[in-house]
Amino acid sequence: MENIKRVYLDHSATTPVDPRVLKKMLPYFGEVFGNANSQHSFGQATNIAVDEARRKVADVFNVKPNEIYFTSGGTEADNWALKGLGKSNKGRTEIITSKIEHDAILKTAKQLQEQGISVKYLSVDEYGQVSPDELKKMISDKTALVSVMLANNEVGTIQPIKELASIAKAHGALFHTDAVQAVGSIDVKPKELGVDMMSVSGHKFYGPKGVGILYVRGGVKLENRLITGGFQERTMRGGTTNVPLVVGFAESLFLAVNEMGKNSAKIQELRDYFVKEVESKISHVILNGHRENRLPQNTNFSFEFIEGEGLLFGLDMFGIACSSGSACSSGSLEPSHVLLAMGFSHERAHGSIRFSLGKHTTKSEIDYTVNSLHKVCKKLRDLSPLYAQYNASQQNDLHRASAKRMV
Ligand code: PLP
Repeated sequence: MENIKRVYLDHSATTPVDPRVLKKMLPYFGEVFGNANSQHSFGQATNIAVDEARRKVADVFNVKPNEIYFTSGGTEADNWALKGLGKSNKGRTEIITSKIEHDAILKTAKQLQEQGISVKYLSVDEYGQVSPDELKKMISDKTALVSVMLANNEVGTIQPIKELASIAKAHGALFHTDAVQAVGSIDVKPKELGVDMMSVSGHKFYGPKGVGILYVRGGVKLENRLITGGFQERTMRGGTTNVPLVVGFAESLFLAVNEMGKNSAKIQELRDYFVKEVESKISHVILNGHRENRLPQNTNFSFEFIEGEGLLFGLDMFGIACSSGSACSSGSLEPSHVLLAMGFSHERAHGSIRFSLGKHTTKSEIDYTVNSLHKVCKKLRDLSPLYAQYNASQQNDLHRASAKRMV
């Protein structure tokens, strides 16, 4: 195939490590290797680096360093937020979450349900938005925790977290948000949002994989440890601190948030151009999610008469990387739980594809993608019996209409 490029439009799945971040991390794989818990000078050097990283993260979020716990990523942070409260629930036995959460929340909630915790699920509207009114009706004095993501990973819809958190607070329940997709793309400050806990993951904003944080507001007591062991993370999470990853996380967060104004504006402009181009050049396409109230990098389309997987592989032949459903569920033939919760048919959900742009995405990459998308859609539709049926029925309608006119 002529002109094969490689175009990466799957930044919501992961991003490459920024070279400036890698440079910061490298010494901690080599010469600065001490165990951050050791008393000697080797340990002191890494201990200082971990302290600095924690302070840097706290400064970015405008919180205190002792409100930051390093974890192995967003999944662990989400698990911990749900499982951590234990007896500090004050006898409350119920969790409320939403139907469109990441599996890190949904599967953890299911596990807790199997252990006797009551879990209720908030629905969403056709744009993927949770309703504060529904939370008001659902919440009670049994609710220990409400967990709703800040922005959805598939359709990018941003949730009214401030409003939801204040409802939880008014009922004496704690509020957790999974901010994994939002941090680095939009402004996120836990105190302004009024959340008690917040999950963040480094690899979504040009940091390393396998590291994240759980922000836990001072005064909130996590009783259960997920990982028991040594005295790390103020005794709350055992295991020798992974210094290079922690340093890389802090640096990538710092850079992402500092450069967010410029990057997000450029990404959003290109994303809007992409949407316009797709909608004007490709037929039978629907934009999923909210038109405005969504993350700047996200687009999610349903292509009628096409299977998302087929489109994904077709685009891969052109060197274009995107995603059908969320990365974690790709490979499964189940339609996206997010699109189903938004009320879409299995067909529409199956024909959906997410394209997520990044800070290095260019207009020529977008043009190449639209062009390739056009070719792949045509090829797949030419093979589709459903599309043939649709065309035949259109033809029949036309014949009938012209026959009527002739009478
Ligand atoms: N939460 C959301 C919304 C995500 O998109 C992801 C990853 O895709 C996670 C949690 C899991 O984060 P991690 O990959 O760091 O475990």
